[in-house]
Amino acid sequence: NDVLATLTFDNRFVRELPADPEQANYRRQVYQACYSRVHPKPVKAPRLLAYSTEMAALLGLSEETCQSDPFCQVFVGNRILPAMDPYATCYGGHQFGQWAGQLGDGRAINLGEVINEKGQRWALQLKGAGPTPYSRSADGLAVLRSSLREFLCSEAMHHLGVPTTRALSVILTGEHVVRDMFYDGNPQLEPGAVVCRTAPSFTRFGHFQIFSARNDLDTLKKLVDYTIRTDFPHLAAPSETVYCQWFSEICRRTAEMIVHWQRVGFVHGVMNTDNMSILGLTIDYGPYGWLENYDPDWTPNTTDAQGRRYRFGNQPKIAYWNLVQLANALYPLIQNVNPLEEALNVYAATFELGWQQMMANKLGLRTFDPAQDDNLVADLLNLLHNAETDMTLFFRDLAMLKLDDEIAAFQRLLQQSSYTTPTPEIQARAKQWFQTYQARLRLDNRPDNERQQAMNAVNPRYVLRNYLAQQAIDLAEQDDFCMVRELLDTLRQPYQEQPGRERFAEKRPEWAKHRAGCSMLSCSS
Ligand code: AMP
Ligand code: MG
Ligand code: MG
Repeated sequence: NDVLATLTFDNRFVRELPADPEQANYRRQVYQACYSRVHPKPVKAPRLLAYSTEMAALLGLSEETCQSDPFCQVFVGNRILPAMDPYATCYGGHQFGQWAGQLGDGRAINLGEVINEKGQRWALQLKGAGPTPYSRSADGLAVLRSSLREFLCSEAMHHLGVPTTRALSVILTGEHVVRDMFYDGNPQLEPGAVVCRTAPSFTRFGHFQIFSARNDLDTLKKLVDYTIRTDFPHLAAPSETVYCQWFSEICRRTAEMIVHWQRVGFVHGVMNTDNMSILGLTIDYGPYGWLENYDPDWTPNTTDAQGRRYRFGNQPKIAYWNLVQLANALYPLIQNVNPLEEALNVYAATFELGWQQMMANKLGLRTFDPAQDDNLVADLLNLLHNAETDMTLFFRDLAMLKLDDEIAAFQRLLQQSSYTTPTPEIQARAKQWFQTYQARLRLDNRPDNERQQAMNAVNPRYVLRNYLAQQAIDLAEQDDFCMVRELLDTLRQPYQEQPGRERFAEKRPEWAKHRAGCSMLSCSS
């Protein structure tokens, strides 16, 4: 029965930070506390849908354990291990640019923090395991489609080399959740599910903002000091100087994360400050999406269709805006704007240099030379936008062209990876661009095969295309988990050609362009 006894817990968050004295799960404002103790809501008939072998291994859990009933009971929230101490945390945030007050873990319940064999700290968090004091008017539950999306995408992002929270498992609850997603006036019953997600820490910008907004500087300082000690142990003991170093590191990590998003064509969709991790991890996979035809104005979030605040091309600016909000929240502890501004400049500089080098890498150039490459990159991105070219396919296949290839080879590549047939005007621009690119490559003087290898290491063959996730969901809703498993397995090696799996690396089919779930998504989850 105790296959999970190998997990060693060290629940530092609850041990060292102020608790909400009340225990009940009813919804309320919680003051001067970082968390409330809660219990997951037991469910009728849990059934394992999928788990991540890599994440399980990091926690020292065998495949056999993951397939056992105790695993399923524990990671759906039916059984609490003696060493666990479940809690939901208090945070606030700016949503779509507006201060929203207290939000908090409305449907996330932390089970505790595991220290693994390597001494790493992994917080385990159930998403969709029932209401907490922070649930506001919502039910604390999650449906299969959004749970599966989060599970698959966070693991896929990890394998792409993008900093992210991880996922251990996704478990069906055997119960139904009421959602109204089809806008036909009738609420829909959907299968419920619980994801166990994992991260060294789930602390968000909003965790600091809430105490600052309430002028509760005492709790703010406790949380900042705790976070530096626990999640940034390489920094010195907390002081005003160290607070600034810490913020500067958050700026740097955030910039690095955004460069990765832009590299792989990931659009987060809900970059509210409560969805920004202080560790620079991609967190909260709501209505996210992947660019198919390259379009910097695309957002996957139907709620954001008007303002397009969270469109692909805006992500770098929004991250900066969010960091400014965090700087405002930390200001009372520092009382000096200069170091905060310097740190924000670190964001801008890290992003700029990181983005340039990233684009150079995608094109197989050794380094980015602004004098030539600013235009080279801008012209290409315009071309891809106008030709409605599939970003993933294009960059991956570009590596296969040889330095001496005819222009026609490039024009063919553009045609094959585009969703529209290139016009003569576009083909003329393509010709010009490829000539400039070839000249640029000649200056670099790098052998074709070396360039190809370097490009293939940063341009994935496989990403979680929106319509593929939807197909896997449709099947899973009919109890067929095969596609989930095959996708999960494919996405473990996104830079590797995988013969027999070409169907996961194709252009979005025409039928998927406007189908529900295949492109844009609502916040309903
Ligand atoms: P999100 O837009 O997913 O970042 O969620 C914003 C806030 O709403 C967070 O505080 C969530 O915990 C909360 N929330 C979202 N969905 C639910 C739900 N079904 N039940 C309770 N809280 C929720
Ligand atoms: Mg959120
Ligand atoms: Mg969410």
